Amino acid sequence: MDNVTEKLLECFGHRKFKSELQERAIRAIARGVHDVFVSMPTGSGKSLCFQLPAMLQDNKVAIVFSPLLALIKDQIDHLTKLKIQAESINSKMTSKDRERVINDLRSLKPDTRFLYVTPEQAATGTFKSLLEHLVKYKKVSYIVVDEAHCVSEWGHDFRPDYLKLGDLRESYKSIPWVALTATASAEVAKDILSNLKLLQPVAQYKTPSFRKNLYYDVVYQNCIEDEVGDLCEFLKKSLKEDDNVKPRDKNAVIVYCRTREQTEDLAHMLNKRGLKSLAYHGGLKSSERILVQERWSSGDCPCVCATVSFGMGVDKATVRAVAHWGLAQNVAAYYQESGRAGRDGKPAFCRIYYCRNERNAVDFLLKTEIARARTPEQKQRCKNAYKSFEIMVRYCEEVKCRHKTFAEYFGEETPRCAGRCDACSDERAVRRALEQHQRRAMS
Ligand code: ADP
Ligand code: MG
Ligand code: ZN
Repeated sequence: MDNVTEKLLECFGHRKFKSELQERAIRAIARGVHDVFVSMPTGSGKSLCFQLPAMLQDNKVAIVFSPLLALIKDQIDHLTKLKIQAESINSKMTSKDRERVINDLRSLKPDTRFLYVTPEQAATGTFKSLLEHLVKYKKVSYIVVDEAHCVSEWGHDFRPDYLKLGDLRESYKSIPWVALTATASAEVAKDILSNLKLLQPVAQYKTPSFRKNLYYDVVYQNCIEDEVGDLCEFLKKSLKEDDNVKPRDKNAVIVYCRTREQTEDLAHMLNKRGLKSLAYHGGLKSSERILVQERWSSGDCPCVCATVSFGMGVDKATVRAVAHWGLAQNVAAYYQESGRAGRDGKPAFCRIYYCRNERNAVDFLLKTEIARARTPEQKQRCKNAYKSFEIMVRYCEEVKCRHKTFAEYFGEETPRCAGRCDACSDERAVRRALEQHQRRAMS
């Protein structure tokens, strides 16, 4: 046992690392030679990647930038429970409290191990002079940027104040920086490295996108006689299992739709065809939404037809199929939504029931948004959204390994698909279907 694994148990109570990647990232950050970029999905334990290395350096404090006071509070509560001193400086505190924190940090040997601040706070004079003091007296272990995708206009939660953090990176070259995010796209990663001005070469630790238990394919709605019937068969086949499973471990499926009406219509038609289904969308009362989610999670109803609002906090491991009715908004969203399938590691199916009309509907909506955008930044973001959508369309209208498209999008090497998508398992059939689709869409 070395001091890294020792601290893992002693400070955080874990006997093992959550993954090999987590361990490698932690060891790289602990070495402190390079700036480190970590991209791992939500829940994979990114916080520990900087928290553990910070605990290896006595009498030093890690500065952590985080976008929201609510997130900051969660992290501080978590560390406090572990008896690790974590503080924040923010506008919601009493001046007395703020003074207490600052006095400790300005003392010879601070007790504070983590100081959490929002990027807005980082721009204040109070913080800047404090940071200068801490750096001058070598009291900073790391500077950490959590939720680092906020620095990118390609991300969902762009925050202009995050951009200013790049100037700090330039001012304090002696301290290693760590940037973490769950957003994995290549564009966002590129923005994080360049906008935060991380020092090259940056060590990068990314979860590969390839999940070999997921089979991806595309079906063209205009090439089949009975679309709903085909969907129903696909779902029923995916759901098949032994009878003696506990209700909560029963197989389940999700059908994602663009509109509320579609969720209701499809649920209705699937019920008529003997597949017990419920609709889920933002128009339902929150009590109804909770009920749908509970009936689905508990194994009472195997199928949910939902808008993309379904999924936050859904952690059912036995989702055997995720179907998209029409298409998804973009490749990142599609990867995330379809990725709810097969969390147990067993085979699962992800299928798009592609439809030109749906494509045109989304196309129109996104173009309207571009036209309506007021500021240049808004316009840029809308244009980015449109470009992402175009990649999604190409995914559907191209004969190419589906896993490869994801890998390219996330800036990774081509994975070994070995027949885990339609294009790799039967390229000619996919080509034929696509040609038929295009002929019919023209006429
Ligand atoms: P992320 O920021 O990647 O979404 P968190 O850092 O919030 O994830 O961690 C998610 C959960 O995983 C937390 O409850 C955390 O305590 C737990 N966790 C992290 N590392 C380990 C580990 N090595 N062993 C067990 N649990 C861990
Ligand atoms: Mg996190
Ligand atoms: Zn493939």
